[in-house]
Amino acid sequence: MGRQTQKLILSSRKSTIRTTITKTVVLQRFIVSLALAIGTALLVILTSFQSSAILVTSSSSSPPPLKPHPLPPTLTQWQDSTNSGDYFSQVSSTQVGSLVWSQFPVRVYVESPQAVNSKLAEEWVKTVVQAVQEWSVYLPLAIVEQPKDADITIVRKTPPLQTSPNSKILRARSAQTTYEVYVSKNNLLSHCFTILLSPSQTGQYLLAATRHEFGHALGIWGHSPLPTDALYFSQVRNSPSISPRDVNTLKRVYEQPTSLGWSLTSVSTLQQEN
Ligand SMILES: [Zn+2]
Repeated sequence: MGRQTQKLILSSRKSTIRTTITKTVVLQRFIVSLALAIGTALLVILTSFQSSAILVTSSSSSPPPLKPHPLPPTLTQWQDSTNSGDYFSQVSSTQVGSLVWSQFPVRVYVESPQAVNSKLAEEWVKTVVQAVQEWSVYLPLAIVEQPKDADITIVRKTPPLQTSPNSKILRARSAQTTYEVYVSKNNLLSHCFTILLSPSQTGQYLLAATRHEFGHALGIWGHSPLPTDALYFSQVRNSPSISPRDVNTLKRVYEQPTSLGWSLTSVSTLQQEN
């Protein structure tokens, strides 16, 4: 499972934040920008897990300390009667801690594809929403109509080519999930996810790819070594549904400390100086 540095995105999709960032770039405040990617290879059956993170902070402020949020009731209620364990040891920690959501429902925007006929577009959205709804049993989710309202955005678009960790060969991926961290207008350290799904995926493949990538966007930042889990590192022909091990892992992720969803008090102090 190779990892390599990929890219830094010092930007934010959210217009309210863009203002913050523009002002913030002048050193005085805490800026954080992270861009991470988990890709699934299309040409090679084995997929690569790639991640990179660059955290930019100013000297006058620091990210909120790592603290766990209360476990969402949907996960408190979850009991695995099969005792099938988890793959939490495969989940990467990030510089902001666990990639958990703390405000529910998590808002999901599914972009309707533009370059295809309306029937195909409708079918695509339906399949993607179906995979998202499978996860809503475990965490409250809501489909939103406007991209600006979204925490997680899903787009039908070919992910950029990437080089594999041990060679210079560029290869295509069938999906890519990235996240960015920003400071919200109420001073909470926040994050948002973007999932790109290759137009080559349809039917069961699209359903499986969405289910897998959405698991990353809910905070499972790693892969299972078992092909019976939705977060298995490779794409398999008979793709599994969300397994007890997937949910056990999700629950452990949500028990971990994070800087996300907590406020940056020193930033608000600085803003009053303006
Ligand atoms: Zn993955």
